[in-house]
Amino acid sequence: MTTEPTTTSSRGDRLADGGTRVRYGLMDLAARIEDVIALGRGDPDLPTPAHIVAAAKAAIDRGDADRVSDPAGTPELRAAVAAKLRRENGVDVGGPDGVVVTTGGQEGLFLAVQALLEPGDEILVPDPRYTSYDIAIKMAGATMVSVPTREADGFDLDPEEVEKRITPRTKALLLISPNNPTAGTVTPDNLRALAGVAQRHDLYVISDEIYEKLVYDPHEHLSIGSLPGMAERTVTVNGFSKTFCMTGWRLGYLGGPHVVMAEARRRKAIVSTCAPVVSQAAGVAALTGPMDVIEEYRQIYTRRRRIVLDTLDRLGISYGEPRGGFYVFLNAASTGIPAPELSLKLLEEAHVLIFPGTGFGEAWADYMRLAWLVPEPELTVAMQRIEAVLAA
Ligand code: PLP
Repeated sequence: MTTEPTTTSSRGDRLADGGTRVRYGLMDLAARIEDVIALGRGDPDLPTPAHIVAAAKAAIDRGDADRVSDPAGTPELRAAVAAKLRRENGVDVGGPDGVVVTTGGQEGLFLAVQALLEPGDEILVPDPRYTSYDIAIKMAGATMVSVPTREADGFDLDPEEVEKRITPRTKALLLISPNNPTAGTVTPDNLRALAGVAQRHDLYVISDEIYEKLVYDPHEHLSIGSLPGMAERTVTVNGFSKTFCMTGWRLGYLGGPHVVMAEARRRKAIVSTCAPVVSQAAGVAALTGPMDVIEEYRQIYTRRRRIVLDTLDRLGISYGEPRGGFYVFLNAASTGIPAPELSLKLLEEAHVLIFPGTGFGEAWADYMRLAWLVPEPELTVAMQRIEAVLAA
């Protein structure tokens, strides 16, 4: 007779973050309701551009699916990423050694955190934020120090709020611009001031720029790694899921100082050997190919954004201006219903899924994140259903 082990590592429970639990709980409920319009998850609904798909097919035909690459990526993709960072972002990572290709931005952020932080270190993070960072920071044994952001100034990150939380243990600052869930950006003046803070206090900066191409006029994206003295202390996190609608290809990258990239590469080899080589070939096509389709996509998101904001304006619901990404972080306080309850109500009565702010941090019970990742006709119906439920 064999006996089954009765326990597994208990670390799993400690590593779950409350935000993820809230989001996945709602998605489970939504799956049981027919005709739900999902404005929850942040996965683009538009197709991966055809020239990228064609490059992947050619890679499969050459046998790329049967092989692995260096843990840090194929030479072609590492070179393409280094060139892209220099050309589009003004960030000099010193060539391919300054790049680690990852299995999604998700793995990239995890590796960046593990490569930089030691137990006992503190990292300053914007609140609210994409909560995968919370778990990665916990796993590194480091401590997260939240810096509040506010609806009134579009969820910008205030350099004074950052600086006053610095202690002798502070090792790094996390920037996510444009931000998920707030869709706020760090304005250029604040970014320059934050670069000064990082230099004065000798901090690393992890700069998550995964929404960089989805910035709405008149705002523009600026990479902190392009500012004087910052390339040597910045790790840029990016990926293909959002810009190129390649969520399922699981491809991302880190760019930064060679010593940090060497640490990230070692961990990458342990976790997943390398990013899928077929996806890497697709990534080269994405970074070196035409960008007009990406601009077309931005225009589509711009129109959807208008539909959503017009409805919110009509309903008298306030929000921080969504400057980038494909979300709005709306303030549901005027409805008189706490956001977690309102999420359930909208799911049950309007058959529309929207995440409450508590999916991104406990303090955000007045807020909700709505993602406009369905076609315009469906989005219009969703907004009409929301309006009807709130007017009833
Ligand atoms: N960073 C941010 C801010 C995100 O919102 C996401 C996904 O939603 C990621 C990183 C990871 O994306 P992926 O692993 O699909 O590249």
